[in-house]
Amino acid sequence: PLVLGIETSCDETGVGIVRGHTLLADALASSVDQHARFGGVVPEVASRAHLEAIVPTMQRALDEAKVTLADLDAIAVTSGPGLAGALLVGVAAAKGYALAAEKPIYGVNHLAAHVAVDTLEHGPLPEPAVAMLVSGGHSSLLLVDDLTNGVTPLGATIDDAAGEAFDKVARLLGLGFPGGPLIDRAAREGDPAAIAFPRGLTAPKDQAAHRFDFSFSGLKTAVARWVEARERAGEKVPVPDVSASFQEAVCDVLTAKAIDACRTHGVQTLVIGGGVAANSRLRVLAEQRAEKHGIEVRVPRPQLCTDNGAMVAALGSRLVAAGVAPSHLDLPADSAMALTAVSVPGRKPA
Ligand code: ATP
Ligand code: MG
Ligand code: FE
Repeated sequence: PLVLGIETSCDETGVGIVRGHTLLADALASSVDQHARFGGVVPEVASRAHLEAIVPTMQRALDEAKVTLADLDAIAVTSGPGLAGALLVGVAAAKGYALAAEKPIYGVNHLAAHVAVDTLEHGPLPEPAVAMLVSGGHSSLLLVDDLTNGVTPLGATIDDAAGEAFDKVARLLGLGFPGGPLIDRAAREGDPAAIAFPRGLTAPKDQAAHRFDFSFSGLKTAVARWVEARERAGEKVPVPDVSASFQEAVCDVLTAKAIDACRTHGVQTLVIGGGVAANSRLRVLAEQRAEKHGIEVRVPRPQLCTDNGAMVAALGSRLVAAGVAPSHLDLPADSAMALTAVSVPGRKPA
């Protein structure tokens, strides 16, 4: 199916177009520069930027794919989770286009879309699979039996998300925002074994209740303490070593728990999605550890890991192909959409 996807859950206005598993267009407008001086995304600023960018981004995607609205089989849009005002812009636009072009609309889950996007790079996802979702707002391990039917949460962060930890540590190192790519770059010049930072929820006592959960807030505090001690002693902070050691602590825990989840559930495929999946060390370590157990790791290229419209189109395409009923036209922008809901259901017959 030919599906267009609209993404506006955070600070990226994305419109992607796919045919089956083939990516035809992926247009993106980001307001990230407007948030940089605040050290985080400002919801009102993001909403206004989406409003300005949505129509031109839509036009760019259609031009790039060389299709018209009339050619589409469906329009998919991120219904949630995300920033309420930001989501509303995408949902309203999608409704307008769907109504005008008389096309079915699918309100989809942003997190499921982060999982679905891998099909654009590696083809159909072998199921069951374990999905590790690591982004600015989420860090979860999910069991995926059939993505069109929903996912089963195995564990999640009990405090900060992995991307949030990257952003906060980058800020305290004075690297800028968003922090993930900047730490990734600084770490290349550093020694990952220089500082032994804590690995959250990996103690034997955590095995029972938190085997597949994560905690990154203690790690962030440990980095802050370590940096403060240096500064107090009047010593220079070795940014590359701190970056590499911090990154190693995050990636060590993420990959160990993801592989454990695969082995526990007898699953041979691990798919990683979300902005942190762009991390170079995470990709290498996951690959190395999975190989020992005959597990295949799928990580889409970095561009597809962070928010974009193609991921929404990819999930829409999968839903259309599976014969899932479209959403009703009054579908909500649901900032707290449950992880277990892959798409907004159609209206029940009266
Ligand atoms: P969510 O998907 O949970 O709603 P989001 O939309 O803000 O959150 P994404 O765009 O999926 O998140 O990811 C952004 C996050 O990914 C940021 O925290 C950013 O620092 C992090 N990130 C991006 N690239 C890298 C990288 N190379 N290494 C580590 N983290 C990265
Ligand atoms: Mg973003
Ligand atoms: Fe995201």
